[in-house]
Amino acid sequence: MPIDFDDREETAEQEEERILARTLTSSDDNEGSLRPRFLTEYIGQEKLKDNLTIWIEAAKKRREPLDHVLLYGPPGLGKTTLAGVIANEMGVNIRITSGPAIEKAGDLAALLTNLDDMDILFVDEIHRLNRAVEEVLYPAMEDCALDIILGKGPAARSIRVDLRKFTLIGATTRAGQITAPLRDRFGMVTRLDLYTSEELTRIVARSAGILNVEIQPDGAAEIAARSRGTPRIANRILKRVRDYAQVRADGIITRTVADEALSRLDIDQIGLDAVDRRMLEAIIRNFGGGPVGLDTLAANIGEEAITIEDVYEPYLMQLGFLARTPRGRCLTERAYKHMGMLYSEQLTVDS
Ligand code: ADP
Repeated sequence: MPIDFDDREETAEQEEERILARTLTSSDDNEGSLRPRFLTEYIGQEKLKDNLTIWIEAAKKRREPLDHVLLYGPPGLGKTTLAGVIANEMGVNIRITSGPAIEKAGDLAALLTNLDDMDILFVDEIHRLNRAVEEVLYPAMEDCALDIILGKGPAARSIRVDLRKFTLIGATTRAGQITAPLRDRFGMVTRLDLYTSEELTRIVARSAGILNVEIQPDGAAEIAARSRGTPRIANRILKRVRDYAQVRADGIITRTVADEALSRLDIDQIGLDAVDRRMLEAIIRNFGGGPVGLDTLAANIGEEAITIEDVYEPYLMQLGFLARTPRGRCLTERAYKHMGMLYSEQLTVDS
């Protein structure tokens, strides 16, 4: 029987406050204090860090800015943090902006002409730059120059203004939406992966130290296991568990305290919340476990297709619960098991 979702619709604000939201919410206000500042403090992403260490050292030896870097991966994995770390390691300033914030070509020109030698310009959501702005970036990235058009019509002429040497660090959750000419101008294109439980345990322990919260190793491991591979979520959960520990326990985060607090937040043993479970249930009950097209699924559960793709799916795929096939999304036997449903039963229904 199809499930009725009418009584389960969330408002935009509720979604924004979803504890497992990967994007920034109001509870992340003091995120800055938890951000690692140097590569040695930046936990995980070992391969990327290894490469960066070499690139940074080489650039410093040549006294040149680092080549332009494009970082991609789901939100909350540390792209902005890494840009700050690179600036600190290079010993230069960083200017932070985002694709949608740069409305006109002139806005970008102003940003670029204000940079000091070797500075870093960080553009978040770079896939959302508009075409006119993007075209200003090409000569800037390639030749450190701006082409400015003076006048209009037949009398118009273009003059070239030299810029100081700089590094552009772009971040995006959707590498596929970056145009080829822009992508080609980055010297390094690197993906950030979801973190392992062990890495997240270290991140939680480090953040607890900064927040002055006493936490036992198995308490940190419990939070890590339920943070969907994402440091931003791990830090946010840590703060909620700290509140619970202060009010209901003696302030110390043990495994039991973490488990109780997380159960209250409706986050299950492996980090799924009500929205994830609703999605899994919908695929099982309404679509026989799949395949189901992304848009059909989105309409069925009342979420945006982009949110499903960027926020829910990466973790469900990491867990091996969901597979993307050319015919649509399919659930695996593991997902059925987690939901307490019989996989074989569904296969019989299908055939
Ligand atoms: P993104 O830009 O990818 O959305 P952020 O860089 O804003 O993600 O990271 C979110 C938060 O997660 C940061 O405030 C930081 O405290 C934490 N964080 C991210 N990556 C790491 C890491 N590798 N080690 C420790 N903390 C991290």
